[in-house]
Amino acid sequence: MSMIIQDVKTILLRVPLQQRTITDSQSSVTHVEFMQVVLRTTDGLTGYGMNWSYTPGLKAAQTAVDENYTPLLIGADALDRRELVRRMFFSNHFIGRVGATRVGIAAVEFALWDLACKAVNLPLWKLLGPARNSVKAYSTDGGWLSWSTEDLVRDATRLVERGFDAVKLKLGLPDPLDDLARIAAVRKAVGPKIKIMTDVNCAWTLATALRIAPRLAEYDITWLEEPMLPEDVRGHATLQRAITTPIAVGETLYTLQSFRDYIADGACCFVQADATKLLGIDEWLQVAALAAAWNLPLVPHTNVQQKLHVQLAAVTPNALMVENCYESLNDMWVEPIHVKNGHYTLPQEPGCGLQIRDAVIREHRIG
Ligand SMILES: [Mg+2]
Repeated sequence: MSMIIQDVKTILLRVPLQQRTITDSQSSVTHVEFMQVVLRTTDGLTGYGMNWSYTPGLKAAQTAVDENYTPLLIGADALDRRELVRRMFFSNHFIGRVGATRVGIAAVEFALWDLACKAVNLPLWKLLGPARNSVKAYSTDGGWLSWSTEDLVRDATRLVERGFDAVKLKLGLPDPLDDLARIAAVRKAVGPKIKIMTDVNCAWTLATALRIAPRLAEYDITWLEEPMLPEDVRGHATLQRAITTPIAVGETLYTLQSFRDYIADGACCFVQADATKLLGIDEWLQVAALAAAWNLPLVPHTNVQQKLHVQLAAVTPNALMVENCYESLNDMWVEPIHVKNGHYTLPQEPGCGLQIRDAVIREHRIG
């Protein structure tokens, strides 16, 4: 059996968030960019992959796919996925072993997996072998720094009423004591049973983290996410030894080896691997296995790629739950994914589920 790739197409979109501008300690987001990769094979199958970024920046990944990866893909067997990923990686590794070049490879890797699934007419999770038939959701579609404390409390209360038992709050205000006051208000509003996660998006120094993070224990915070820059493994290890709140990292780690360093140094307790930042699904599964070997829970990072990570969580025994973020963008997929009573239902269509609707492409295409 072979599936020869005869055509590679990339489409760049800039899609507005249909809500107020949302803000964390590093970004103020009004739009999200998407790149759809479309692979067609000689036997008539079409594979869809995608990757994403906050505006602007994804053009660099599209250029990598168009100029570096497409010549390697045309005429190749789509089932030779791991060899193709290796060749794509070394085609431009001198200008980027991580970042946009890797984001482009992941988009192609998803399309190759999509073809492998469609060849046997199965959704990704079913092909990989499910460990569970529904996946718990936790909400990260809120908690933004741009919101007032009253807005935070109102939104957290609404989410709990919808059936979520876990919510996330952004930290990283100029005065971290203001962060603590906001946490206190939300904890008081939702009561002791609801899990509260916190996310600094890398804004703190070790000095700030050592001063502020010990006080999170007072509010029974489930985890402290990305307190410092991702390159500072040693700083995270120092912090984790000094506090009882578990540290979570992963959304800005691009390699299996970065996860190895964090885990081996005791610098995190929760692993938030994101297949769109790694080299795709295969490397994500390697990180999941690494975490399992250290008896660590996996909580995939997602912004817009829930459909993919819900399927990966379904096949990963040590995956706890998957973020539900940017709900206003869910309808952009040909078959949206839904949360009912705090759980995702698993996609039923064959493939990875990353095909963007034609109407969305027509309205928001920029390249
Ligand atoms: Mg985060």
